[in-house]
Amino acid sequence: MRSLVRYLAALVVFVAATASFASESEAGAGSKPSAARWRSDRISIAVSRSLFTSSSNFKPGTDVASALKNAIAHWEAVANVHISFVESKRRDASPAGVRGDGESLLTIAPTSENLALFKAGDTSISAKTRVFADRNGFVTEADIVLNPYALFSTDGSFSTYDLEGVLTHELGHLLGLRHSQIMGSVMHGNVDINSTVGAGFAFRKALSAEDISAIRSLYGAPLRIEDCCGRADIKLLATERSLAGSLVFLEDKNGEVAAGTRIENGREISFGGLTAGTYAVVVARQGVGTFGEDLGMLSVEAGSVTRFEVKPTGDQTPFELAYVGVDGLLSTSAVKLLPGSTNLMTIGGRGLDASRLAIYTSSPFVRIDETTFSDIDYAENVSAIRFQISVDANAPSGSYSIFAQLPTGEFAVLPGAIAVSK
Ligand SMILES: [Zn+2]
Repeated sequence: MRSLVRYLAALVVFVAATASFASESEAGAGSKPSAARWRSDRISIAVSRSLFTSSSNFKPGTDVASALKNAIAHWEAVANVHISFVESKRRDASPAGVRGDGESLLTIAPTSENLALFKAGDTSISAKTRVFADRNGFVTEADIVLNPYALFSTDGSFSTYDLEGVLTHELGHLLGLRHSQIMGSVMHGNVDINSTVGAGFAFRKALSAEDISAIRSLYGAPLRIEDCCGRADIKLLATERSLAGSLVFLEDKNGEVAAGTRIENGREISFGGLTAGTYAVVVARQGVGTFGEDLGMLSVEAGSVTRFEVKPTGDQTPFELAYVGVDGLLSTSAVKLLPGSTNLMTIGGRGLDASRLAIYTSSPFVRIDETTFSDIDYAENVSAIRFQISVDANAPSGSYSIFAQLPTGEFAVLPGAIAVSK
């Protein structure tokens, strides 16, 4: 997935070489379309020496081993997985096919096999992970290739990828996760390059509540956390319009997005790995930013399954949300906001009108000042609204959604568009 980045002409002070970039995973021929896991919770990977010897891909001073250990620790801290690694002379990812060589490799070596995964000289994709699975759906091998054309760092340097953030994302693929629709999640498909305009991807090293439930749905919580999780099975009853492409997500009592998935076909969704509690069920009928509908509340208990049936009734709004940004930049990536900060935020989409819409967030710690609303004319059929947004100094970290609502009640939502992070 590639995000669309636009600049607001009225606000552009300078044009920087910044954009949101993508990470792609591709499945080997033997794998199934749904999320798979490894049979064992102990996974070992070989790390090509190219990661430690390539001087042209890492900014001087980059601590590759620490970045990898930190990336592993993010997942091990929240799920019952254990990832170990050993150095290896091997350089090539396994070619696409029904099965690989059985050894998972992390590499950045510029071999012909690895370079074939990227366009020559193109740095818009940070890495690719090729996942192999057996007929039972278990992952048997996952090879991570960091783009040999790209530059990585661990200090936020301009126009480099944050190594720890990229590795955290790719390890999520290795563990069996697919891309998330939730903007503030590590597993969202946008992997941003560090830039001076807007926040880079570095902040998305921290797993969102949605990342955590997704990985726990596959592996459970760490054993020390007893009785962590419950599951919600949601069945959407027949509607006149197809539900394909709809995004269904759960918000916890603090407004954080706890789970989310897009409906490809069928009408049944299962969210595992959920912490006990009460959740609001929300659907966006045609994906992120489109007509939203509150479907009610469900309650999850540890160790049990909650069944929830509901019929969506809504149709569509005369407007859609698509982009968010600060300082004049609009993109499909979440925006990082610091506790205690006040920011000039812009949301963009189709048919937005500041005089008719209420705009609010799902966090009581993040406030939008409605007296500052202004419409911004935008080319190419994109309308935008700019406003001031403030984050309480004691706001907890997490990803929260932005809502835009008409006086008649119809709303659209960008799930997880605000990542509050220190
Ligand atoms: Zn990815």
